[in-house]
Amino acid sequence: MDIFDKYQTLAARRAQLLATGTDPFHLEIEDLAGPCEATIAGRRTILLGTNNYLGLTFDPACIEAGVEALRRYGTGTTGSRIANGTYAGHRALEAELAAFMGRRAAIVFTTGYQANLATIAGLAGNKDAIFVDSDWHASIFDGCLLSGAKVVRFRHNDPEDLDRRLERNPTPGGCKLIVVEGLYSMFGDVARLAEIVAVKKKHGAFLLLDEAHSFGVFGARGRGVAEELGVEGEVDFVVGTFSKSLGGIGGFAVSDHPRFELLRVAARPYMFTASPGPATIASVRAALARIAARPELRARLWENARCLHAGLTRLGFELAAPPGPILSIRLPDERSAVFAWNRLLESGVYVNLALPPGTPGGACLLRCSVSAAHTAEHLETVLDRFASLAAALAQPLAAE
Ligand code: PMP
Repeated sequence: MDIFDKYQTLAARRAQLLATGTDPFHLEIEDLAGPCEATIAGRRTILLGTNNYLGLTFDPACIEAGVEALRRYGTGTTGSRIANGTYAGHRALEAELAAFMGRRAAIVFTTGYQANLATIAGLAGNKDAIFVDSDWHASIFDGCLLSGAKVVRFRHNDPEDLDRRLERNPTPGGCKLIVVEGLYSMFGDVARLAEIVAVKKKHGAFLLLDEAHSFGVFGARGRGVAEELGVEGEVDFVVGTFSKSLGGIGGFAVSDHPRFELLRVAARPYMFTASPGPATIASVRAALARIAARPELRARLWENARCLHAGLTRLGFELAAPPGPILSIRLPDERSAVFAWNRLLESGVYVNLALPPGTPGGACLLRCSVSAAHTAEHLETVLDRFASLAAALAQPLAAE
């Protein structure tokens, strides 16, 4: 027996996918011309699936801050936060994130994935129970596994189901931790936080909110969906990432809990991995300052999102949620989704292809993410390409 035998079904599915065109899951970006344009397969391509919501990856101040830090502090910290991997910049960014979020403390992690692993597995132990939305991101799933806690999934964005499950699962000698996302990454729908918070209070549970896709995008100051819905005071722990609106790599968690910083000596994904490099920290600090100083970036993103949502709807596409930074188009099956994805790429538009089992409810999606840096011309070209796609999808696919 070979050790890869367990992947036979996966391998067959992958081979089938590769036969239809470019590998959608290992696409090579050959060059970049700003946050929204790239060269892919030798072709100039508009990027409409990069989570680069505010377009800050090419912001001159962020680039300069990174370059300066690289020169001054070197290419990497070569150590974990608990050894030699905490520089003044890491501490400064934590103070700035805490201030931005209006919280007592912030902890910086090496990725957003690790922020969820560390926070969830650090908070919950084997006497506790985690009540988690069934559309969970992989990092939340893995954090739950790592915690050793009892894991209870509730129906997606359904506070009544959460209430029932909290009722039915007492935790003698332990705590209850609810884990939800602000903006769900596949369909782009927003958490029903006001009702979830009411249920949380009723059961004396703790609430952890992953604002990976909503930080910098929702709320008057860009703090996320909790700010937008006016419930920040009831969210005990917020997790976020640097890899989307902040245009870097890394993650964070914030809280007002007086013992929050114990995670620094309890959470293994914080303690046993190298810290983010100095250039990353410096560019993220500059990006955070940009988000605070330039609310017009957020306004532009929303304008673009509304424009694209309206245009795609007019063309007859079925959008999974109201206008927002994530616009997911539902297609009837995998074959048409793969066909559509390849067709768009060949016409110079990159979106994410999202297929089961990576999607909720077996959905086949073209997942678009909008950026403040998309110009009117970008959006016009994108809608033109989608119009051609709509015409192609109206034909039978048999010849493909
Ligand atoms: N949480 C959610 C909801 C995400 O979508 C992601 C990444 N797509 C993460 C956490 C992990 O963030 P990172 O990519 O920074 O590791």
